[in-house]
Amino acid sequence: MASQCNSPPSPSTASSATSIGGDSTKIPICYCGVESCLKTAYTEANFGKRFFSCVNHKFGRSCRFFMWFDPPMCIHGRRVLSRIRERHERTRVEIEIESHLKTKEDEYAKSIATMEEEYGKHTARMEEEYAKCSAMIEHNMHGYD
Ligand SMILES: [Zn+2]
Repeated sequence: MASQCNSPPSPSTASSATSIGGDSTKIPICYCGVESCLKTAYTEANFGKRFFSCVNHKFGRSCRFFMWFDPPMCIHGRRVLSRIRERHERTRVEIEIESHLKTKEDEYAKSIATMEEEYGKHTARMEEEYAKCSAMIEHNMHGYD
């Protein structure tokens, strides 16, 4: 899985920004003949590692160009990143559950509001009926006076 395209400004528009992340690396040209863009991988094996990818990928017609930007990581770095990824994954799941609960909460609040509205209507109707009955009883009672 990859994130947004972090393509740096081209040298023609920015004279000083010709490097990415401090390293002066030339941006590779993909098979489409255009500058590729820098992305970050979030896979288990390469969490946080950046790579160059076809810029047309977001338009659904990628030439499948692929080149790592970051060098291979040492075993320790991988272990640390694997831990970070686990935490990242847990947080993501927690956020998902939270938003699901929030949706449910909103649904319940809405149905409660609807029920209260219905209840209010019924109450008003019953009060009206009651007032009518009372008036009728009153009238009849006066009839026997
Ligand atoms: Zn391409």
